[in-house]
Amino acid sequence: MDAQHVEGDLAHVLLTEDQIHTRIKELATQIDADYAGRDLLLVGVLKGAIMVMADLARSLERSTDMDWMAVSSYGSGTTSSGVVRILKDLELDLTGRNVLVVEDILDSGLTLSWLLKNLTSRGTESVEVFTLLRKPDAMKVRIDPRYVGFDIPNEFVVGYGLDYDQKYRNLRCVGTLAPHIYT
Ligand code: 5GP
Ligand code: MG
Repeated sequence: MDAQHVEGDLAHVLLTEDQIHTRIKELATQIDADYAGRDLLLVGVLKGAIMVMADLARSLERSTDMDWMAVSSYGSGTTSSGVVRILKDLELDLTGRNVLVVEDILDSGLTLSWLLKNLTSRGTESVEVFTLLRKPDAMKVRIDPRYVGFDIPNEFVVGYGLDYDQKYRNLRCVGTLAPHIYT
C-alpha cells in the first residue's frame, strides 16, 4: 500500500520507501562489518518490527538467526508506563549469543529499557539495539542504540510496520496521520 492509496489519511509523508531501504542497506553493511566472525541473533519485537526485520535481515550478506518477542506495556492510551508483560517469549536460548534487538521506533524508551535488562539477564555475550526510528525529544530513559535509521520529530507516525489501531502497518512509507483520523 502506497501513500496514494490512503490519501487524505496522512498529513504528510516523512520517509519514502526508497529512503528507508537505502538507510537500512547502509546500516546492514555496518552490521556485516561489526559482527564479522561472530554469531548474530536478531530479536524482533512484534508486531511493529516485522517490516524492518524482513528488510534488514535480507540486506545482510551473512546468515543470521532470527527470533521474536511480543511484549505489552501497561499504560494508558498512547503513553507507555515501562511496566511490561511478555506475551510471547523467545524460542532460542540466549546463552553466549550476540543479540541485536530490532525495533521499529524508540519513543520514551521505557519498554526497551525493560527488555534490555530482561535479555541481558539470560547470559548473553552482547546485547545491542537497532531501531529504524528514534524520537529524541520523547526519550525518558537513556538508551544508546548502536544503529539508528532516522531521528524524527515527536509526532505520532504510522506505516512500515507501525500502526494506528492496527491499521496502516502495510503502508510502504512512514507518515504522520491527519488529525481527523484520531480525533
Ligand atoms: P516506548 O516504551 O519507547 O515509549 O514505546 C515504544 C512503543 O510505542 C513502540 O514500539 C511502538 O509500538 C509505540 N509507539 C511509540 N511511538 C509511536 C508512533 O509514533 N507511532 C506508532 N504507531 N507507535 C508508536
Ligand atoms: Mg516496537
